[in-house]
Amino acid sequence: MSNDASSTAAPRRGRLIVVSGPTASGKSTLWRRLVQLPGVDFSVSATTRPPRPGEVDGRDYHFMDDAEFQRHVDAGDFLEWAEVHGHRYGTLKSEVEKGRAKGHDVVLEIDVQGAKQLRDLGLPMVSVFVEAPSEEELRRRLLARGTESPEEVERRLARVRSEMAEAGHYDFVVVNDDVDEMVRKVEEFLGYEPGRGVPSHDSGEVGA
Ligand code: 5GP
Repeated sequence: MSNDASSTAAPRRGRLIVVSGPTASGKSTLWRRLVQLPGVDFSVSATTRPPRPGEVDGRDYHFMDDAEFQRHVDAGDFLEWAEVHGHRYGTLKSEVEKGRAKGHDVVLEIDVQGAKQLRDLGLPMVSVFVEAPSEEELRRRLLARGTESPEEVERRLARVRSEMAEAGHYDFVVVNDDVDEMVRKVEEFLGYEPGRGVPSHDSGEVGA
């Protein structure tokens, strides 16, 4: 690599910031806070799961049927994709490139299988795992959310243990005891000034 720190001609290319964690761990709270920061974008995933009440196509997910998802698979449009809870979810290369081309960091909220695929590809990325609280607390949060049936809640809880076993593969693990504290710790880990996002003086190449 011929990157000379004294000749910062190369425009900054944003980093991939992977956020994973078991269901209802608080990972969506985290990424929603991160993408409010200047210079931090969200990669809207594609999914075959039907929208939940209040979810908006193109904002929360690109909702699509199996055939359309498969067309994107065949066309090689996905950076990674995986089946989660019986539905397919994938990161579109175009989503990630849009932000990175602007020099923005791009947050991917993806499951542990997707994160593993990106690691195996050797893509430059920073990964954050939001650890679940106790199973009881998780069950309480899921039932309070009221968007899944009790059977679905139990199915999701069953996955939590295997997902937690993946935490050790992530660069940073955080527990969501207190939302502000969690966000502060992650901002610090990412090298952001609190509430300020991507440092404006950071013009060097970050990742490839
Ligand atoms: P939910 O249906 O609750 O929105 O998401 C279910 C799971 O799918 C979560 O663990 C979430 O991280 C994961 N997920 C969302 N988008 C993607 C994606 O693009 N790729 C992968 N591999 N997982 C995703």
